[in-house]
Amino acid sequence: MRLGAHLSIKNGFDGALAKAVELGCDGFQMFAGNPRGWARKPLDESEYQKFMAKRAATDIWPVVVHLSYLPNPASEDDELYEKSVLTFVEDFRRANRLGADFFVFHPGKAKGASMEQAMERAAAAVNRVLEEVDGPTVLLFENQAGAGTEIAATLESLADLIGRIKHPERIGICWDTCHAYAAGYDMATEEGCATVFEGFRKYIGLEYLKLFHLNDCLGKLGSGLDRHQHIGAGEIGLAGFAWILNHAMLGRVPGILETPQENEGDDLRNLATLRSLIRKG
Ligand SMILES: [Zn+2]
Ligand SMILES: [Zn+2]
Repeated sequence: MRLGAHLSIKNGFDGALAKAVELGCDGFQMFAGNPRGWARKPLDESEYQKFMAKRAATDIWPVVVHLSYLPNPASEDDELYEKSVLTFVEDFRRANRLGADFFVFHPGKAKGASMEQAMERAAAAVNRVLEEVDGPTVLLFENQAGAGTEIAATLESLADLIGRIKHPERIGICWDTCHAYAAGYDMATEEGCATVFEGFRKYIGLEYLKLFHLNDCLGKLGSGLDRHQHIGAGEIGLAGFAWILNHAMLGRVPGILETPQENEGDDLRNLATLRSLIRKG
């Protein structure tokens, strides 16, 4: 499996790329702007050119862009919804201009509205984003932990969302192991994993599975608690990750770490742990 981590853009997009190379990542993920702000200053064309030129000199794949934290594309509040879609469009446009392979977003939460209304709004947001932005980047729905009124925490809900999108060839799924575990999918055992991906095949189709977020989980199975943990140090443990990494088909889907970055070397250690689980030959 090609492996990488979510990396900071404090030194620019090409700074994140350089860090990925330094860490020995096969691919990496980054934000397209300040993840805690709405404002997006126009970027100079040279930013994109510089990134693409530098990437061309590496064998980094995939490059993933993650939507910032603030947007809620399922929001029932008209003002927040509109703001969310605008930031979504701008970040997705940036991802396409960077030549990113994938763009990941959280489908959002219903808050005071019904789940059905939230599903409809999230689907409408994605249809608008795809209409307004053309390019090579595949848009990935990320499964959520199911806290409160979050949508897209189940395979059925993800399948329902995909069914509402006008251009299914431009979308896919990013499966976050921590969110799945928190939502009640047993990613900790071989039998559990086998059942989960049989469900994935049945409800969605494995051709839609484009990316993994490989995170261990601090919370218990079904707790709804979205707290990422170092690989092997949480409730999932090593057996589930080993099963995924060595699976003939799933092992060809790339994986990105979003594990805590508290101490120097955390990403390197988590990458090494995952790589140690891959059986040779
Ligand atoms: Zn994730
Ligand atoms: Zn998360």
